[in-house]
Amino acid sequence: MFPPLTITFLGTGTSTGIPMIGCHCEVCTSKDERDKRLRSSILIQSPTTTIVVDTTPDFRQQMLRINNDKLDAVLFTHPHKDHIAGLDDVRPYNFFSGHAVDVYANALTADALKREFAYVFAEHKYPGIPNINLNIINEQPFTVGDIPVVPIAVWHHKMVVYGFRFGNFTYITDANKIDREKKELIKGSRILVVNALRNQEHISHFTLGEAIALVEELNIPRAYFTHISHQLGRHQDVTTILPDNISLAYDNLVIQA
Ligand SMILES: [Zn+2]
Ligand SMILES: [Zn+2]
Repeated sequence: MFPPLTITFLGTGTSTGIPMIGCHCEVCTSKDERDKRLRSSILIQSPTTTIVVDTTPDFRQQMLRINNDKLDAVLFTHPHKDHIAGLDDVRPYNFFSGHAVDVYANALTADALKREFAYVFAEHKYPGIPNINLNIINEQPFTVGDIPVVPIAVWHHKMVVYGFRFGNFTYITDANKIDREKKELIKGSRILVVNALRNQEHISHFTLGEAIALVEELNIPRAYFTHISHQLGRHQDVTTILPDNISLAYDNLVIQA
């Protein structure tokens, strides 16, 4: 049995966020709160355990706006800056809990963390820096507290990105190709979150059409799209053309799995 999970979308935007700095398009100037997208990340809560997937440049703001006071672990999907930049801001969780935050990353991402947050891994540490416990993962399933995790390797152009399956819920950000045997790992999910950047083709992200086709191919009953560019259009307009079982995610949307 899987524990019941509450999933909060902390951010649903592509690497620039929406609005994008300096942009005056109809999406970036929209008054609809659902068109304001911080960088992509989710919070997953079971009865005992709280995880975030990725620490975006907006991590501090994301934790403050939902008033989250507990964090057991961070799972990283890949080393791009819009997914790791906020790691320094786990410090308050160290202060309040008195212990390290568990971090799970594959070898590629772990190398980037050691490079970009070298002070966190220094032999002689400056006081007050983030206290993390780095676990290097591969594609073997593992558990965090009472939450089972199955890594699913997908392609972001030529970079391997980890999607994660948590029981009946699967989260895949930053992908444009999924190998057939990895699709088998996704099948049977009741809820799938997947990236849908925009309508025009992109070298490393699914388009809206490709994301819809994936949901249909895998026979997923309920799907949400994330990592959205201002080029996709306004939330309200895109929503009208989506199949009934697919929604655009938006920031602070909460779902149960
Ligand atoms: Zn990204
Ligand atoms: Zn714009």
